[in-house]
Parts: sequence; structure tokens; C-alpha cells
Amino acid sequence: MAYVINDKCISCGVCEDSCPVSAISAGEDRFVINADECISCGACADTCPQEAILED
Ligand code: SF4
Ligand code: SF4
Repeated sequence: MAYVINDKCISCGVCEDSCPVSAISAGEDRFVINADECISCGACADTCPQEAILED
């Protein structure tokens, strides 16, 4: 299980700093979460102003 960022992402970058394991980075047209690194803590989902991050 990992969290995923959907197409509501506006690439604001807020979530990137909230991740304790640096699993979030800027992608092609939205920010992306590396599922292999994500520990499903949920911190990023709490910070996203777009509510674009959900548990997969
Ligand atoms: S905080 Fe939300 S809107 Fe901003 S980059 Fe992250 S996923 Fe996208
Ligand atoms: S759920 Fe936690 S570990 Fe996974 S991407 Fe979000 S902040 Fe990082």
C-alpha cells in the first residue's frame, strides 16, 4: 500500500517537504510518489490544498 497523487494536483510542491522519507518529487504534469519508498504515513495527504493525495 502506498499513497498516490491524482490529477487534481496543481504542482504547488507543498507535499514534497512533508514527506519524511523524501518519496515525493515533481513529475511530468503533476507531483508523484515513489511507491517503493512511501511508508503510508499520510502526512502528505494532510498538507495537500487540493486533496489530491489518496491511499491507493
Ligand atoms: S500538495 Fe497537492 S497539489 Fe501540491 S504538489 Fe502535492 S499533490 Fe500536488
Ligand atoms: S504517505 Fe508519508 S511516506 Fe508516503 S509519500 Fe506521503 S508523506 Fe511520504
